[in-house]
Amino acid sequence: MKKIAILGSTGSIGTTTLQVVRHLKDAFRITALAAHSNIDLLEQQANEFSPELIAVYDKAKASELQKRLPHISVLGGLEGLNAVASHHETQQVVSAISGTLGLTPTISAIQAGKDVALANKEALVSGGALVMALAKEKGCQLLPVDSEHSALFQCLNGENPSTINRLILTASGGPFRDWDLDRLKQIKVEEALKHPNFSMGAKITIDSSTLMNKGLEVIEAYWLFGVQPEKIEVLVHPQQIVHSMVEFKDGAIMAQMGEPSMIVPIQYALTYPNRIDSPLHPIDLKKLRLLEFTAPNYDSFRCLKLAFEALRHGGSLACYMNAANEVLVHRFLKRQIGWMEISQKLEHLMLGHTTQTLRSLDDVLHIDAEARQHASYA
Ligand code: NDP
Ligand code: MG
Repeated sequence: MKKIAILGSTGSIGTTTLQVVRHLKDAFRITALAAHSNIDLLEQQANEFSPELIAVYDKAKASELQKRLPHISVLGGLEGLNAVASHHETQQVVSAISGTLGLTPTISAIQAGKDVALANKEALVSGGALVMALAKEKGCQLLPVDSEHSALFQCLNGENPSTINRLILTASGGPFRDWDLDRLKQIKVEEALKHPNFSMGAKITIDSSTLMNKGLEVIEAYWLFGVQPEKIEVLVHPQQIVHSMVEFKDGAIMAQMGEPSMIVPIQYALTYPNRIDSPLHPIDLKKLRLLEFTAPNYDSFRCLKLAFEALRHGGSLACYMNAANEVLVHRFLKRQIGWMEISQKLEHLMLGHTTQTLRSLDDVLHIDAEARQHASYA
């Protein structure tokens, strides 16, 4: 029985992970859970899964939950998240906090020698060099949860990495993929929060609408698979049946297909290298009429272009871009700026950034804080 801790257990990935654990209850035990402030849901999860430790980032809410659950240890703040990440009995940590705040506990998990099922792509975008080097040093497995990276990982199983020609990441294109510039300028928050195929957290849903989500995934793929930026391509595939593909030197292309659902990528990261029955029905290939693949429109979706530029440029630019984007997305959600302004302001900020080398977690957190400050007033 594998012992699992979940960072971000109340979110979209966290609750889907618990759905997988509920389905495979003989295979897993939950040791620890963490979230920001949703203590009602944490209480329900604690009653169902009996973890030994819970962390609530909001310290007042942590005290409140401790009163409701006197038999379980409840910790607050970043120390609490780090304690969940490094809990002594845990074998694998699901890293599913949204945003860069997930980086520090992800590093704590690796430092404590835990395998990590990684959903929090921002951790790799901002601290990829650190996370990958530490995982190598500690001999920890980093298993992708993001569906595209899980697909690439599955296609690469048993293959020699030197034979990769291209990694092809597929993108739904978001709700605005066919909109012209005049319409893009008028986008409302409610429209951007409607993803065509997935129900996800607000931040990633907005990132999907600007294609920044795909941009972050390009950088995530670079770190996970060690492939040069020019060998990573993005194709818009509105049906979201092909989750991503690998083209090899001999011209063969391997694709991983399935329903647009996070169940399989999450479950595979938990059961790897094994495959176990899942609650999902396989796709009925006879019902698929059309699988389309087109190049993204880099003029309308500038964020994707900016992410490629940040990756090619190297150093601190991707970290800076990621944190600035997070703040701009929150400002859009608060209706302080328009949808087009996310990429316009981001581009302007990135042009003003002087790239530095990121040698430590402190360096990453420093650039991250600087970008947040700049983006709050841009
Ligand atoms: P949600 O917004 O649905 O959930 C976020 C989770 O993180 C919640 O449990 C939230 O707690 C917790 N959280 C947020 N801030 C903190 C904090 N400071 N301390 C502790 N916990 C915190 O996000 P998603 O589940 O959609 O996404 C999570 C991560 O997974 C993101 O990095 C995203 O990019 C990635 N991902 C998501 C996919 C999806 O399908 N949803 C697909 C691929 C990757 P609370 O509920 O208390 O606020
Ligand atoms: Mg994805």
